[in-house]
Amino acid sequence: MTVRVRLAPSPTGNLHIGTARTAVFNWLFARHLGGQFILRVEDTDLERSRDEYTQNIFEGLTWLGLTWDEGPFFQSQRLELYREAIAKLVAGGKAYRCYCTTEELDQMRADQKARGQAPRYDNRHRNLTPEQEQAFLAEGRQPVIRFRIEDDREIVWDDMVRGRMTWKGSDLGGDMVIARAASATEVGQPLYNLAVVVDDIDMRITHVIRGEDHIANTAKQILLYEALGAEVPLFAHTPLILNQTGQKLSKRDGVTSISDFKKMGYVAEALANYMTLLGWSPPDSTQERFTLANAAKEFSFERVNKAGAKFDWDKLNWLNSQYLHEMPAEQLVDQLIPYWQEAGYSFDAEGDRAWLESLTALVGPSLVRLDDAVEMVRFFFASELAYSEEGKAQLQQAEVAGVLQAIAEQLTPGSLTAESAGELVKQVTKSQNVKKGLVMRSLRAALTGDVHGPDLTQSWILLNQHGQDKSRLESAIALAQA
Ligand code: GLU
Repeated sequence: MTVRVRLAPSPTGNLHIGTARTAVFNWLFARHLGGQFILRVEDTDLERSRDEYTQNIFEGLTWLGLTWDEGPFFQSQRLELYREAIAKLVAGGKAYRCYCTTEELDQMRADQKARGQAPRYDNRHRNLTPEQEQAFLAEGRQPVIRFRIEDDREIVWDDMVRGRMTWKGSDLGGDMVIARAASATEVGQPLYNLAVVVDDIDMRITHVIRGEDHIANTAKQILLYEALGAEVPLFAHTPLILNQTGQKLSKRDGVTSISDFKKMGYVAEALANYMTLLGWSPPDSTQERFTLANAAKEFSFERVNKAGAKFDWDKLNWLNSQYLHEMPAEQLVDQLIPYWQEAGYSFDAEGDRAWLESLTALVGPSLVRLDDAVEMVRFFFASELAYSEEGKAQLQQAEVAGVLQAIAEQLTPGSLTAESAGELVKQVTKSQNVKKGLVMRSLRAALTGDVHGPDLTQSWILLNQHGQDKSRLESAIALAQA
């Protein structure tokens, strides 16, 4: 048997971290067993589905490296298939038309509430006579199609994460609506549970891996598999992702979509790695860093937790910094350039490539997120340097103007090396009869406007290559003398 799994996102929002993590587990499981990973877009909710969300989902999955083998399939293009299944269920007496109005349903719930009962449909239109149906139609009522769920049914499955699961038919809310806006002859707009089951049967899905918020749906869906005469797949319900206070991670917690994480400066490898750890642990639990391909070698649902997975920003940041620190500058520079462009720094991405790579090598080892690089290099691009209070104070010390003057006199653009910079500092320390520390601190304040920042000599060399160091020293001298 070839393993076939699927991701079935609804394009009603950007790719959510929960859906992406479900995608990760599907992908890992399929790759581990040499199976197929299928992408199916559940876009039957025409009002809430949007193309831009579909694009966002595809881009997010691709960016993370979660490649799919078949699809994307779109439910909106498969309506006929669902209608056939619904018609078959109706013809077989397993589903029927229900003519209840919204008011009747509301009244039913209010009565149940008053009696202290859980809300459910009381199956009142299960056995209407043709005359009763005619009468409702004559009143202009539009039916829905409901699927019969027997109260005394017990539904049992062995969940790959949660073990044996047992549900009672009586806990499923009564006969379930599988299509809306039907008529006397048409079966109407299919709903989620029906469409999912028809597709999973048609696509020969062997394992349904999805979030635990779908557990009650699974019980209903198993009944639909049976009614449609199909084999029931295996199910794995993955734990929810929780925020720091133990609640389901939501929009209120700030970023929740993959494109947000991307924008914030997380790299795909780190985020994919982190999501793998949200609920799964490798056999060697001290191992925290791996590629998706490596995780796939070891992945199994035996090591997926039942308990919710707490989202840990520190861990994600740590992983991200590890990936950034190890990324070669030639590669990292391509990730940083868009952030620098967005910040409005002016440079020629091609012509200045070598210089930008050196700049990347300078700040790369200090990055936690890509966007940290924006502030770190701001002073390189400033046409007029902004001095911090400490930077200004440093420049206003007694010997500073003389020191900077002595250095400025000897600068020519593009000639500075680490060696010549060291020599120059040594020479000026001596000639001005000051401490080396004072020279270095003054140089930093003059060149960068601040008293801390990236490696001074390397920063100086980069400024010198663009012929910016001399003019900065001159401005600083003016400030020192002011
Ligand atoms: N469209 C559903 C969702 O996004 C899919 C659930 C399933 O995998 O069956 O939650």
